Formats: sequence, structure tokens, C-alpha cells
Amino acid sequence: MHAPEYVLALDQGTTSSRAILFDSNGHARSTANMEFKQHYPRPGWVEHDAEEIWHSQRAVAERALREAKARPEDIAAIGITNQRETVVLWDRETGKPIHPAIVWQCRRTAPMCDRIRQEGFDKTLRRKTGLMTDAYFSGTKIAWLLEHVHGARRRAEQGDLCAGTIDSWLIWNLTRGVAHSTDVSNASRTLLFNIRTLDWDQEILDYFKIPRSLLPKVHPSSGVIAETDLFGPRIPIAGIAGDQQASLFGHQCFKRGAAKNTYGTGLFLLMNAGTKIPRSKSGLVGTVAWRRDGKTTYALEGSVFIAGAALQWLRDEVKLLDNAADSEKMAESVADTGGVYFVPAFVGLGAPHWDAYARGTIVGITRGTNRHHLVRAALESIAYQTREVVDAMTRDSGARPEVLRVDGGAARNNFLCQFQADILGVPVERPRSTESTALGAAYLAGLAVGFWKDEAALAPHYHTQRRFEPEMKESRREELYAGWKRAVERSKGWAR
Ligand code: ADP
Repeated sequence: MHAPEYVLALDQGTTSSRAILFDSNGHARSTANMEFKQHYPRPGWVEHDAEEIWHSQRAVAERALREAKARPEDIAAIGITNQRETVVLWDRETGKPIHPAIVWQCRRTAPMCDRIRQEGFDKTLRRKTGLMTDAYFSGTKIAWLLEHVHGARRRAEQGDLCAGTIDSWLIWNLTRGVAHSTDVSNASRTLLFNIRTLDWDQEILDYFKIPRSLLPKVHPSSGVIAETDLFGPRIPIAGIAGDQQASLFGHQCFKRGAAKNTYGTGLFLLMNAGTKIPRSKSGLVGTVAWRRDGKTTYALEGSVFIAGAALQWLRDEVKLLDNAADSEKMAESVADTGGVYFVPAFVGLGAPHWDAYARGTIVGITRGTNRHHLVRAALESIAYQTREVVDAMTRDSGARPEVLRVDGGAARNNFLCQFQADILGVPVERPRSTESTALGAAYLAGLAVGFWKDEAALAPHYHTQRRFEPEMKESRREELYAGWKRAVERSKGWAR
């Protein structure tokens, strides 16, 4: 018998399911990807077909194994990472979902959140869960399902239903209904989980009328929690983490103060906050990063809803450019934006402002403004929003990151990375591997089964592809940023 050669990462994202086989050097040996359908049944509502998610995830796992000619006995462990906060409610007997999955972006519970704030329960939620009372998180979505799906509450109280985030749904299916499980990082995004006791919080469950039996068992992020025999001989499922926490782990941000920023549709900046619960007074959320070896690591997080999507909007709706990558040359073709600022508050503002009524705003337009200025302003807005989050983190933690590690689609943009370093006054580092999320899940699983010995053994896998040093004069940086702050004020409260 030879030693297993790979760890299989299942990376279940918002728009696609991916599977990657990593070897012991952290190299991707095979990758398979499958997009699935987004459903928008009403304005502001977003749903997924949970069955489609599972079938696509299973199919890409099988394809990744086939392409590497790997047999199940070659796989040391499976790691799972997933779109966070999205919830599925399913029948314990049949394993069938009783309603489409409600996706993290869905705003259907915004009125419920207004009511919670009116009743003052948001303060309890903030203290116990570290989160804001916002439709973004899972708790109100589960409460909505119990209230609106016919018979759901009664069946939940009889113990006939299961609820869970996407990790739970995948594990349930991988184990043919044996394990109803999640990990602390996913649980910490539900608004139901006490991040001090690391358990579902009874006072919160009572408030939302959610029976405890509906919820999964909570496990560490690294450790064997179940086995799957779907691919042949049994493979341990040994790592689970929400996508942003997995990315923090994949970037090897193991030390307190280490931070990463993912520039995708939105941007998610997470900083390792060490073993004490971080308390933000600046509009960030405190969340569990991971738990392993009996130790819980927390993170401070700034979630910004629109980043790369501002470029998508300029491309698809305004038709200022043909593809997002062209934005780099366009931005570099002008010396600056000519005083234009673009605040892409299309769905309100997340961290650090949390203003659901802010709307997209472009200010400072003159007769000389052209499309290059607008495209540049869109890219700069990504950097300014990041600066707001980093400043908030600095205020909350007293520490400014020494370097910002970046990933996600827009991190390919050299102009953005340089402008980011300039506007932060902090170097920006882009790793060679663009798969930090999947890699993080693989690391968590591989560490649990001894495929890798410890964190130190992972260090040689990290390679910087390019480092961007701050070059801008301090006075210029602060002048530009002051303009951004004025522009943000203009965008706030618009839809009220
Ligand atoms: P997600 O995982 O959120 O779907 P990705 O990490 O795949 O997002 O990144 C896609 C986003 O990045 C899109 O919004 C796109 O506009 C933006 N993007 C992709 N390439 C570039 C680029 N070269 N410059 C700027 N933005 C880009």
C-alpha cells in the first residue's frame, strides 16, 4: 500500500462548484469547475437550487479525480469550503430540500432586521455573535423559512427537518444522511451561534423560535468529522471552513495581525485577531476564523458588497469597456480621475458604514471627464473601500497590517494593486497561487490527518508572484482619501 498522494478540496462558491486535487507541495494537480443557475424570483431576492449545487459539486469532484487518474485510496482527506450564510432546509427522512436555498445576497429579511433593531435585540446579537443585524447573515433566513413554508414550523418542532449552511448540506449528501454537521467558522455566520461558548445560543434560538434539533452539530474546522464512501473506499472529511476564512488560512495568515483581501464581486478583508474575541467599535464584525488543535482563532472582517461588480456594471450596463481586464490600460492612460469619485453603493453600503439606503453615486464630473476617468474611478473605489476597512481594523485592533495579501479576480489588475499599496501606505502582495480558498480547505483537512505535519510545513508552499510597494507621497494620499470620504457622505441615505 502506498501513501495517499492528494487532498481533495471541494470549493462550493456562489456561482460555481469547483473541485481541486492538491499534492503535498500544495500544487493543484487537477481542477474541475461547473457553473450553476442563479434564481431571482423577486427584486432583491436570490435563490439557488440546493440539489443542483450538490449534483454539480459531486460531478466536479468525480471529474477532478478522473483527470488526475486518482483513485479514492490516493486521497488522504476531503476539505470543504463554501459560500457562506446561504441556508438550506431539508427533510430528514427523504433528504430533499423543502424550499430553494436562500442565498447570502438575498434581502428578503431586511424588514425583519428593521423589527429586530426596533426591539433592541440587535445589541444582544452583536454581543453574542459578533455580527450586525443584517439580512446578509443566516439566522433571519431560517426564521423566514419556518414562518413562510407551509407546515415547516410544525415539522421542525417534531424534529423532522434539518437546516444548515452549504457545508452541512454537502456533508449530509456525502455521508448519505449520516452526518448533520458544520464547523465553527460557518456557524459563526448564522447569527445564532455564540462565539464565546462556541455553541448555538439558547436565548437567540428562543427569540427566533428555532428549535435546536433543527441545527447541525458544530465541529472544529480541522479534524475528521465523518467519512464518505461515494467515490469508492472511505475517505475522511477532515476540514471545513467558510470561503473567506478558508482563504485567510490558504494565504497562511496564521499570525495575529496578518490580513488578506479578496477582490471578487464584493471584497472581503479578514485579519487574524488571535485567540481573543475581537470587539469592533468601527463597523466590522468579529467572527471565528477556525478552530483546530483545541484552539480557536478569531478574525476581524470587513465585508464590502460591491468591488469588481462596479467594473462589471460599467462593462455590461454602461458599455464603457469590453472586458474587465481592459480597465488596467484604460486607468493607466490618464494621470488621475480628474477629481471624479465613484461610490458603487448599488445595494447600500456594508462595512464599515452599514447603510442599506445608500446608492451608487458619481461626483466631480466636469466637461473634461471621459470614460478613462470613470473606469479609473471605479478601480480606485475598490482601493478606497479597502482603506476604510483597514482604517477601521487599525482603530479596533491597534495594529495596522504590515502587508496585505490579495486574491480574487480583480487582484489580477496591476493598476489596482499599485493604487491599493499607495492609498494604504502598506505593501500589497499577490501570491502565485490564485486558489487560496480551496487551498485553505485542503490545508485544514490535510493537517487533520497528518498529510502535512504542522503550519510550518506549509510555509515553503507560499510564493509571492508580485509585491507592490507604496510610492505615493503621504500628502497626496491623504488629499485623495479625503475626497473619497466626502463622496461617500453624498451617497448615504439616498433611497430613504
Ligand atoms: P466571484 O468569486 O465573486 O464571482 P471573482 O474572484 O471570479 O469573483 O472575480 C470576478 C470579479 O472581478 C468581477 O466582478 C470582475 O469584474 C472583476 N475582474 C476580473 N478581472 C479583472 C481585472 N483584470 N481588473 C478588474 N476587475 C476584474
